[in-house]
Amino acid sequence: MARQWTRRQVLAQAGIAAAAIHTLDPHELCCAPGAEAATHEKDLFELKKVGDGVYAAIAATAYKVNSNATVIVTNDGVVVVDSHSKPSAARAVYQQIQAVTKQPIRKIVNTHFHWDHWQGNQVYTSANPGVEVVATERTKENLNRPDAGVGGVPYVAKQLAALPAEIQKLKEDAARATDAQAKSRIESNLRQAEAYFEELKQLKPALPTRTVSATQTLTEGGRQIQLQVLGRGHTDGDLYVFLPKEKIVVTGDALIDWMPFLNDGYPEEWVRTLDSLERLDFAHIIPGHGEVAPKSHLAFFRGYLNDLIEGVKKAASDGATLDDIKAKLPDQLAPKYERGMSKYPLGQFRDRIALNIEMVYKKVVQKA
Ligand SMILES: [Zn+2]
Ligand SMILES: [Zn+2]
Repeated sequence: MARQWTRRQVLAQAGIAAAAIHTLDPHELCCAPGAEAATHEKDLFELKKVGDGVYAAIAATAYKVNSNATVIVTNDGVVVVDSHSKPSAARAVYQQIQAVTKQPIRKIVNTHFHWDHWQGNQVYTSANPGVEVVATERTKENLNRPDAGVGGVPYVAKQLAALPAEIQKLKEDAARATDAQAKSRIESNLRQAEAYFEELKQLKPALPTRTVSATQTLTEGGRQIQLQVLGRGHTDGDLYVFLPKEKIVVTGDALIDWMPFLNDGYPEEWVRTLDSLERLDFAHIIPGHGEVAPKSHLAFFRGYLNDLIEGVKKAASDGATLDDIKAKLPDQLAPKYERGMSKYPLGQFRDRIALNIEMVYKKVVQKA
């Protein structure tokens, strides 16, 4: 890399995206709701060994903003799956990768087009000539489509358009705040929003250079890496990275350790796609958000999706309105799912379920 970032600089930029995007239309939020600012003690990512030469860069929950990354070291270079929401976050992971291996980065794989999984791509492409950016054909299309949802180049412009008003509102809120603690939190969010705005203005999107439209196996430096295309789910272009020897699967947001985000998703197909995923022989899941999980987590997550869909369909066929369903279904699903879906400070059961219900109502009942 051209410049070395100090720990302080890296940390200073952490959590920025969350603060900045916090007040966009909540329907446009993807995977990372707003962060509180006063949590700069921890590193952004913790690199955890999941198998021989395979590491999960688990995003620190304190920052509430970045996706996880997966680092696969081969004899001939490194493959990184997902690159977070911004270059400063990708730099933080890249520094940790360089502490593990001096091998160059050969490939970046983007699991899907959402902003928090690809906006850091440029850090790897600029530092590693010849690096390939791999995604599904559909994800590549989505990255350029203005109507694709919460990601892609047009979504960068949307964020940039929204940020000045966001920053102005934070300034007004800071001026109005009477409580010292609240004022300091808002001021910190303001600084982060301003820094994210600057970072986003300079973003040089590094888009896929190689696409796949069906499952294929890469042989990278003696390691077998399967790119699995299993069907629509979290988006219409989800890609799973499966390491058969190490029995590890990297799922992006199609399987995460908190509540799913359905706005760009296909709820009923998602359940069937997870059935296909389950047929692969793996023991460890590196999810898009949250900690590494055992295979059994798939059934829990799919169970939630399935019960959510069935609950909404049944209530609607009994004549319930969307508001009725939002009022009743959360309590019906809570005994089975609230605890397991609320392990982290964000993406919790009660934060997400109303929006989940609304999306299922729209997509499955109304078939909008
Ligand atoms: Zn995500
Ligand atoms: Zn996503």
